[in-house]
Amino acid sequence: MLVSAKEMLTKAKAGKYAVGQFNINNLEWTKAILQTAQELNSPVILGVSEGAGKYMCGYKTVVGMVNGMLEELNITVPVALHLDHGSFEGAKACINAGFSSIMFDGSHYPIEENIEKTKQLVNACDILGLSIEAEVGSIGGEEDGVVGAGECADPEECKMIADLGVTMLAAGIGNIHGKYPDNWQGLSFETLDAVQAKTGDMPLVLHGGTGIPAEMIKKAISLGVAKINVNTECQLSFQEATRKYIEEGKDQQGKGFDPRKLLAPGAEAIKATVKEKMELFGSVGKA
Ligand SMILES: [Zn+2]
Repeated sequence: MLVSAKEMLTKAKAGKYAVGQFNINNLEWTKAILQTAQELNSPVILGVSEGAGKYMCGYKTVVGMVNGMLEELNITVPVALHLDHGSFEGAKACINAGFSSIMFDGSHYPIEENIEKTKQLVNACDILGLSIEAEVGSIGGEEDGVVGAGECADPEECKMIADLGVTMLAAGIGNIHGKYPDNWQGLSFETLDAVQAKTGDMPLVLHGGTGIPAEMIKKAISLGVAKINVNTECQLSFQEATRKYIEEGKDQQGKGFDPRKLLAPGAEAIKATVKEKMELFGSVGKA
């Protein structure tokens, strides 16, 4: 059964580790992530962007697929199904479809409007027992057409949003979606520290986990980050393994054209990436 992300993140924050959010795109992705979480006895959050939701034929299809897998694969570790960078309408649709967690990304609105819309969704989630993530200070790079400037969040604004009763808070601290450019300045630990000082026990979320050096990840966790989003890195692992399979001509040998064989190396590569991240984040054995 899907669970809200509240309990797993409260435990993570108190235990000084982070739970990974891994975005899903299809059946192979979902299966690889769930199996790895179960194998490592780690809690996990499955992230679904609005674009990926559309690609998978809508939120109801996603909920059906994930719930089916939890049962058929005997998944017993805590799993949350979470909307990533949701619009107000997207968040409502996911609540209705059976997601256990949503993110409302109101970072592009003026702070008053972000507060007003977040407040409405906090009420709905509260009644239904769902977790909700809000964002302050847009996160750089592009994700599914949502383009962020990569700002550092204002700690005062973070406190205003945290006080609305959200479960977790994403604050821009110089992080970027996708691959980091060579001239990237690194995370602003000064901002993170100030946000944590203002928001106390609130689990903080680090977006754009792909390519942040391990030492920075560990420091971010020590400063209150309890959820880390990984998306691009699984895509790159999948791409590399699939490319190798085809370049080695394996798709042309025997039944190598069978999609179950063709997609297997990519799925294995996703598992390896998820395992590496769970070990780095410290969530192994914490289910
Ligand atoms: Zn993000």
